[in-house]
Amino acid sequence: MRFWIEKCDEEHTDCKSTISVLPSRIHDVQELHTIKLCESEGKSDQYTALSNCWGSAKDFVTTKDTYASMAKGFHINQAPKTFRDAILLTHRLGIHLLWIDSLGIIQFDWQLEGSRMAQVYGNASLTISATNSDDDSKGFLNRRPLVYGSLKMKSTTGHSSMVYLNRKALFPSCSIEPLDRRCWNLQEQCLSRRTVRFCENELVWICKQHIEHESGSSKIPRDSNWDIRGPMSDDISTLSWESLVETYSQWTLS
Ligand SMILES: [Zn+2]
Repeated sequence: MRFWIEKCDEEHTDCKSTISVLPSRIHDVQELHTIKLCESEGKSDQYTALSNCWGSAKDFVTTKDTYASMAKGFHINQAPKTFRDAILLTHRLGIHLLWIDSLGIIQFDWQLEGSRMAQVYGNASLTISATNSDDDSKGFLNRRPLVYGSLKMKSTTGHSSMVYLNRKALFPSCSIEPLDRRCWNLQEQCLSRRTVRFCENELVWICKQHIEHESGSSKIPRDSNWDIRGPMSDDISTLSWESLVETYSQWTLS
């Protein structure tokens, strides 16, 4: 993943990391034993944003009643698995701030904060897509069904090593994953500058200029037709817009 980030930073002017205005509230993940909800007060910095299915894990949210304890901080182990995974990933990427909708938006201000989702995902340095998880209790950094077979190879110099084969990785993950059935995810995909998708079998990198699969079996320019972050260019066809609306209509709102 670091390779994709560094390559994007070095080669892509439209999607490289930048310092951006922060969402109204965001979590500081520098200290894993005290994750604090902070008021950003118009400051700018780098941050990650989580795209996830809430599922049945709806107890760990910021409300009027829980705001004070969220601001005081919680231990990483208190959070649902998907949040823990996002916190760890953000921390290990050297980014200090993470935005999660159910923690950053308090129930009573959904109307105002919900309208800012375009900026939240558009300004994030990276959107972490928990694609393979249908419930926040399950997480997305889970053991994958990787090894299909192995071969012991010996070089001409006498050194030997194992080569592991993965049948599924030969075919890019094009199946519908749990998060792909959720309408909000389509919005988050279209608005984000760059996203890393944690699919069942592999990671997929999506930025404005590339879609790359962990297996290396796909590396194609991104179709700009679904880039809806600014005014649409004249060459965006009605067909592309219809395709976007049709896809949105087939997904669920929950
Ligand atoms: Zn890029």
